[in-house]
Amino acid sequence: MLILIHPPVTKPCEPPAGIAKLCGALDHHGIGHRVLDANLEGLLSLLNASPIPSDTWTSRAFHHLSKHLASLSCWEAYRDNDRYRRAIKDLNRVLEVSARPGRIRLGLANYEHEELSPVRSGDLVRAAESPESNPFYSYFKGRLAKLLESEQPSVIGFSLNYLSQALCTFAMIGFLKQECPGVRLVLGGGLVTSWMKRPHWKNPFKGLVDHLVAGPGESALLSLMGVMRPGDNHYSPNYDSLPLRDYFAPGPILPYSSSSGCYWNRCSFCPERAEENPYITVPAEEVIVDLHRLVDKQQPVLIHLVDNAISPSVMKSISEHPPGVPWYGFARNTRHLTDPDFCLALRRSGCVMLKLGLESGDQTVLDSLQKGINLQEASSALKNLKKAGIATYVYLLFGTPPEDLIEARNTLEFVVKHHDGIGFLNLAIFNMPIDGPKTRQMETKSFYEGDLSLYANFDHPKGWSRPLIRQFLDKEFKRHPAIASILRRDPPVFTSNHAPFFVMNKGTER
Ligand code: SF4
Repeated sequence: MLILIHPPVTKPCEPPAGIAKLCGALDHHGIGHRVLDANLEGLLSLLNASPIPSDTWTSRAFHHLSKHLASLSCWEAYRDNDRYRRAIKDLNRVLEVSARPGRIRLGLANYEHEELSPVRSGDLVRAAESPESNPFYSYFKGRLAKLLESEQPSVIGFSLNYLSQALCTFAMIGFLKQECPGVRLVLGGGLVTSWMKRPHWKNPFKGLVDHLVAGPGESALLSLMGVMRPGDNHYSPNYDSLPLRDYFAPGPILPYSSSSGCYWNRCSFCPERAEENPYITVPAEEVIVDLHRLVDKQQPVLIHLVDNAISPSVMKSISEHPPGVPWYGFARNTRHLTDPDFCLALRRSGCVMLKLGLESGDQTVLDSLQKGINLQEASSALKNLKKAGIATYVYLLFGTPPEDLIEARNTLEFVVKHHDGIGFLNLAIFNMPIDGPKTRQMETKSFYEGDLSLYANFDHPKGWSRPLIRQFLDKEFKRHPAIASILRRDPPVFTSNHAPFFVMNKGTER
């Protein structure tokens, strides 16, 4: 028996895609397993524990807790922006107060310890040495003990994808090491993959974790469970062991990936490229079969395509064989979107939102980053998508090496000019990945946070430093009335994961 754990803290709005894929592979080979969404359960257990109300806000937030949770599980909150914001703010408040004595800043998608850093291996080991200091301890102590007793697992696997999960993952690992030293512990997921692809990687978790897995974990896990030569087959995800209807959403969201890696794979400074993750696809016809079967079985309200970039051929196949429920995901700003008929067909197939990594509104910056984006095409894509009724969630990246204030202002101008076609905006400041072809050409300094940091410090070649960028964003970019009104639409905490619910026809869309 194998137990797979999705550790806290990450947005509790949909089941973990990676674990659903592992379940598909294990089912296919008839290997018994249980899944524990410790993120969802842990957050709910903290929310439902009575806090010691320290102030009026906390008492009020706790008083409205069940109403807030209920409103996020149906369409009510998504029909009323103010109500939604109040619910998220209050839930975050209860979490924040409940974890404060442990010197932790906790939220629905956040876990920050005042002293321990998730990018210092020594701090992760410390978290494992004192699991009782973790705010989820009283939840996982009982829950894991019961599972160990009822399932008698031989292997327990953790899927660690975000930094906000790292300290809790190691606290749970520490607890298991004390309770059941004979059970083999496996650690995989996106964050672990990135760590293991760092140059000169050396495993700092020997003695704590028995197996570390880089990349898709199906094959490694199957081998561990005794499957001979499992190969790299595509296994359709299985959500049966996950509490699909308990997430913070008006109905089940099904995450599905039609590929791993990226078909473009050329953008300089892209972690996918730096890590040399191969591009592996599920054949388009299998994607369609999977989606139809999963929709029939699970009756989701939304499909989340979690690919780094959905390929135009998969988009075309979905247009020709609509899954029957709304869907959204990341797409590249390609020529295909300049065809109004292509966009209309996407909309007819249920596409409610596309996330687009535009990064910059300056052509020289885009060219230098090898984004393969032409601004005229991006402009026409935004107009076509708007006309077709597909919302856009546009990602911008400030402070890349070829950018300066002049180019950043061109981005501002582009956004203002196209504000009508931009539903939501994500603004980020560039971090230099520690490795990669372009990074090697730059003057970088020591890792600025810890031995597991994925980014290096660097002096911007044009002096466009982080304080200057922040100043530009706060004093100029965000203050433009057209941009401010886009930013106000962004769902707090859940951002793009909940954004589709604000543009869908509130529960009537099929
Ligand atoms: S499109 Fe996205 S995932 Fe693909 S190479 Fe560019 S930044 Fe990376």
